[in-house]
Amino acid sequence: MARRDRLETEDLPKVKVSGESLKRISRLFGYFKPHRLKYYLGLFFLFLTGITALIFPKLIGDMVDTAEEAMLADIDRIALFLLLVFIFQAVFSFFRIYLFVNVTEHVLADLRKDTYNQLIRLPMSYFSQNRVGDMNSRIATDINMLSDTFTTVVAEFLRQSMLIVGGIAFLAYTSVELTLVMLGIVPLVAVFAVVFGRIIRRISKETQDRIAGSNTIVEETLAGIFNVKSFANEVYESVRYAKSTEAIIEKALQGARARGFFASFIIFCLFGSIVGVIWYGARLVNQDLMTFGNLIQFVLYSVFVGASIGGIAEMYAQIQKAIGAAERILEILDETPEPHDISIPNAINISGSLKFDNVHFTYPSRPDISVLNGVSFDAKQGETIALVGPSGSGKSTIASLVLRFYNPNQGSITIDGIDTKEMGLEFLRNQMAIVPQDVILFGGTIRENIEYGKPGASIEEIEAAAQNANAHIFIDGFPEKYDTIVGERGIQLSGGQRQRIAIARAVLKDPRILILDEATSSLDSESERLVQEALDKLMVGRTSLVIAHRLSTIRKADRILVLDKGTITEDGKHEDLLAKEGGLYKGLLELQMQV
Ligand code: ADP
Repeated sequence: MARRDRLETEDLPKVKVSGESLKRISRLFGYFKPHRLKYYLGLFFLFLTGITALIFPKLIGDMVDTAEEAMLADIDRIALFLLLVFIFQAVFSFFRIYLFVNVTEHVLADLRKDTYNQLIRLPMSYFSQNRVGDMNSRIATDINMLSDTFTTVVAEFLRQSMLIVGGIAFLAYTSVELTLVMLGIVPLVAVFAVVFGRIIRRISKETQDRIAGSNTIVEETLAGIFNVKSFANEVYESVRYAKSTEAIIEKALQGARARGFFASFIIFCLFGSIVGVIWYGARLVNQDLMTFGNLIQFVLYSVFVGASIGGIAEMYAQIQKAIGAAERILEILDETPEPHDISIPNAINISGSLKFDNVHFTYPSRPDISVLNGVSFDAKQGETIALVGPSGSGKSTIASLVLRFYNPNQGSITIDGIDTKEMGLEFLRNQMAIVPQDVILFGGTIRENIEYGKPGASIEEIEAAAQNANAHIFIDGFPEKYDTIVGERGIQLSGGQRQRIAIARAVLKDPRILILDEATSSLDSESERLVQEALDKLMVGRTSLVIAHRLSTIRKADRILVLDKGTITEDGKHEDLLAKEGGLYKGLLELQMQV
């Protein structure tokens, strides 16, 4: 596993393994159902490897005893049998591992798909309440955790349990007296090991927290290198980073001491108990109460049992974490997705008139702040409505409500007189296209990025859309033309170019309603002209809602709505609003002119 994954995995909280938690996650077992045959077969092979492992010490002991009695043929026979056991063990192990991984990978793929499909269908309110980055890494880490657990841990847990029970049974069979001596030592050591292991894990978690903190400094400063340099804060950052790295050393050394002590302790106890058992056993052999071969068997079984007890405690902790991970994935699966009901037949022809009637709205994540207070306006088919107003006045919120990312708390939004709540979401959103302020392209070709507006569009349609969006000119200038890769791994397009790609996307979609969020940062004048021209063409015949920053757009709008703290304070054409002495619009405009 990559270092980062490991850090995150170790970071996962543990939950108590209780009947209730097992019941909650038992739903996940549904994912195993289609593969249960393979899983049972895997369990069967697991059982077989357990048995072969248990036979091994017995055979070794028998061989030694036979050696004493000096019957060569018998020794050879046992050795051959041992070889056979190992061959079986090898073959069984192969199938056990292959089957478990096979089942797990299928189960996880299904789980990944379901989680992803569920995630992208969750309402926007979910995303505004959960940080996308967090969700992202949580899903990756949680599913990784489950992957590790199902493939190895569960199987190992069962195998080790079998070895413990079987081992003790064999021990008792060899010598009850010696078994009691052994059981007096091993569990004590095991309990101590578990407690100590916890302490070590706590320290290592704290170390990882510090490492994460220190990584955050690097991430933040690199992301904000512009700020660091412009404030000449390199020294300040160096000191901050140095302090955090020193803090890592301190914790890591504390961990090293604990680990070192733990290792010494375990070595001492381990060898101590082996010596103890051998000593006691040697006395029994001396008194003819036990054979030499039995003693060897005994020591080997004791080592098996001891190692398994130690290993099982470790695995128990991992199973606890896996249950936690499973619960978090179930939480996502239990969220209510957006309703994708289609109440209005798809064939209906929407002309695109849009009406807000006394719309009140608060974000679900901040119920105490009223963002829209009775917004009403009416946009006839083909009209351009400009939304202006100070930042935070609710312009983007209006756009989100048109897209029905959220529903109004009060009032209604209608398209062609039909309440948007009555329309299926897919149908509704198919009527709209948005050209956002900052266009983010997907990693892929330009063609794929434009095609996003109408999956399955032909290259002719895509080119025509790009022509309309004034994007063809620059795309044609790239050596690979429409197959040019953009995004993180490809070429970086300028803001204006990206916007024209987004416009091409919208042209291809051919929506009835357009939502434009004009870029605040100004493009160079040539780029601006090309974008504006493309937008003007796009807007013809469509109802457009423009979050406007440019005077040119505002002037041309059929109507301007001036928003202030979630209320429309002024509504009219540019000239009308300008005539209003002391009006907010006039003020905003004067401010813009000065810039
Ligand atoms: P504008 O687009 O005019 O700048 P917004 O519509 O983005 O304004 O924001 C209006 C108000 O709603 C602001 O007070 C903002 O803090 C709040 N707001 C915006 N988005 C969210 C959200 N996802 N969750 C909670 N509050 C939000």
